[in-house]
Amino acid sequence: MKLDNSPVTQHDFDGFSFDLKRDDQLHSHFNGNKARKFLHILQNNYPGVTRLIGWGSAQANTLTSLAALANIKGWRLTYYVDHMPTWLNDNPKGNYRTALELGAEIIALSETQGSNGLHPSQYIKEHHSTDPQCLCIPEGGRFQEAKTGIDTLAKELLSWTRFEPHKTFVVALPSGTGTTALYLHRALSPHGIEVITCPCVGGKDYLIKQFEELEPNSSYPTVLEMPSKHHFAKLYQEDYEIWNDLNQQTHVEFDLLYDPLMWRCLRGWLKENPDKSLLYVHQGGLLGNETMLARYQRKFPNSGISKQRYRHTKGSTAFDW
Ligand SMILES: *Cc1c(COP(=O)(O)O)cnc(C)c1O
Repeated sequence: MKLDNSPVTQHDFDGFSFDLKRDDQLHSHFNGNKARKFLHILQNNYPGVTRLIGWGSAQANTLTSLAALANIKGWRLTYYVDHMPTWLNDNPKGNYRTALELGAEIIALSETQGSNGLHPSQYIKEHHSTDPQCLCIPEGGRFQEAKTGIDTLAKELLSWTRFEPHKTFVVALPSGTGTTALYLHRALSPHGIEVITCPCVGGKDYLIKQFEELEPNSSYPTVLEMPSKHHFAKLYQEDYEIWNDLNQQTHVEFDLLYDPLMWRCLRGWLKENPDKSLLYVHQGGLLGNETMLARYQRKFPNSGISKQRYRHTKGSTAFDW
């Protein structure tokens, strides 16, 4: 199974050219940065393990990746969510639908234990963590094992930059837990390549705290931030617009949850850094767009963007232009 050496494509945005590392094209379901983060599990043997245990949102990219990983390994996946949105339960879409199709067992703890039940991470600790048949994965793949696959990504980026040694490459990617940006920084900074990121969950202080917990006493990626506060998974007209601008100018579909904020930060950064060459990492997440786009179209029906036809094919989504 080929799970590395994703292509690099070249594009223009707002008159600036940039290179795009296509981790969205690693594999149909096991792709993006979750595939990199879980590569270690894919490559190693876990004698006695028959089941993966994960938790997070019912719309998370982690859910699909874990379901695909479990399939490849011949394991079951049990995935806990705190709460299951009714609209999604009634009409499964995106990551949730795909994970169900891949055979994932998804359990809403608020339904099985009532509203005063345990938090999923605590529930897993009490019910599965000592079971030798279960392999428990932290939310969003925030664990040391992620280093294996992210180091592979760093090597691929490095060999790309070596084609053009006269350029000063800067690698950019948005952060959730910050795991991908941090491990990329650890691998690339010895080669003089700066990694820039932005916090999509919480602010800059929170992201740096996440870095410190994974790697204390280290140097960290450069953190860009927008002046106004931004809440994860909330809908912002500016995000929707820049996402659409990106689609139109690059003909590449970006993710709607993380990428818009990074690109809003990059708009200013590109103008201030004309001497640098941007190498952007597309971290996948396109299955999640199905639910995000439906929400955007409901919230901003008159934006003109919703007139585009959104085609939906066998578990993956794509645009007709
Ligand atoms: C998970 C995810 C991220 C965040 O990755 P972290 O390593 O948690 O910072 C960014 N983009 C996409 C598309 C993701 O699926």
